[in-house]
Amino acid sequence: MHRQHLNLIPYARQSISEADIQAVIDILKSDWLTQGPTIPRFEKMVADYCGVRYAVAISSATAGLHIAALAAGLEPGHLLWTSPNTFVASANCALYAGASIDFVDIDPKTYNLDVQKLADKLERANTVGKLPKVVIPVHFAGQSCPMEPIAELAQKYGFQIIEDASHGIGGYYQNQPVGNCCYSDMTVFSFHPVKIITTGEGGMVLTNQLNLYEKLIRLRTHGITRDPQLLTNHNPPPWYYEQVELGYNYRLTDIQAALGISQMQRLEQFVERRRYLAKRYDELLQDLPLILPRQSPETRSSWHLYVVRLRLDKIHKSHRQVFEELRAEHIGVNLHYIPVHTQPYYQGLGFQWGDFPEAEQYYGEALTLPLYYELTEQDQDQVVSLLRNLLF
Ligand SMILES: *Cc1c(COP(=O)(O)O)cnc(C)c1O
Repeated sequence: MHRQHLNLIPYARQSISEADIQAVIDILKSDWLTQGPTIPRFEKMVADYCGVRYAVAISSATAGLHIAALAAGLEPGHLLWTSPNTFVASANCALYAGASIDFVDIDPKTYNLDVQKLADKLERANTVGKLPKVVIPVHFAGQSCPMEPIAELAQKYGFQIIEDASHGIGGYYQNQPVGNCCYSDMTVFSFHPVKIITTGEGGMVLTNQLNLYEKLIRLRTHGITRDPQLLTNHNPPPWYYEQVELGYNYRLTDIQAALGISQMQRLEQFVERRRYLAKRYDELLQDLPLILPRQSPETRSSWHLYVVRLRLDKIHKSHRQVFEELRAEHIGVNLHYIPVHTQPYYQGLGFQWGDFPEAEQYYGEALTLPLYYELTEQDQDQVVSLLRNLLF
């Protein structure tokens, strides 16, 4: 374990082993660089790990959210709701589908979408006939949203649930792996290098529903099918296929899938180390003027991010100052997230500062500390001691 890039301790980074490298080389020497047998192997491996029936590997979580929204039937005139405390992709997928977007403010304890606020907003939306077609709970930092009550609301109001579990592979909710889709229609993972496991770019959509699976498979490859039951030609020649809807090229390559399989074999180890380091932060930071990440007892986080909130009432520095001083010391702190509704593009759609006050308040105080598999105790100690010097 060695530090790279001029002593910078980043907020996140991948871990690539010799076995990971060899897995990729093996594919480069094989017959199939894409659309080969490694993709279904990777899909089965993730599906089995999560205890879900179907898995569709895709080129990114963003692509996955897009086709998941389409598979859920999202169309112009429909509404999609998500959390404002997320990466823009969780909301953009609504707009790709031509639908409208709205947000539900966050729970100030977990920074996940607040279920009570969701229930209240649904009740109001119901009276004016503006219920969402899809809700996307985002498992922020790797801690699952309370999916059981969200699923109860979905039953009551008839919306579909897509879990944005870009942070969440390796996490648990009610002692079941995130991704089992017990309380949702689909779950999306990201395999970007900052996430828990990586394929470079990449992601996966999981579901227990055969009709959604078949739709996702078609949308991933141009809307093309060879399924005899879907063809208008009832005596198809051997080369034949039909495009039955408008799809995309959102495929993952076999090169990436091989890396994914190798990384999956390290998943438990990755998450165990992240848990250990998160617990270590909890202990080392407990006397600092910070709010440490709070965990609901029915979740076990995958610890994608370790986010603290500054107690600005007890610190004689601004949020920005603390941030800049840590960056000057080569600590790659980050901020997850700028509330999506405040992005200029979203303000152009009519959202404003003030619309989701909990997410905005959080944004003014949050700080993501370095956390990744290869972070050493010494580097972690350095982050803590710099933070201590700077806050007192
Ligand atoms: C990373 C991320 C995405 C997008 O993932 P990509 O694989 O980079 O497309 C979407 N949602 C959330 C919450 C993320 O953190």
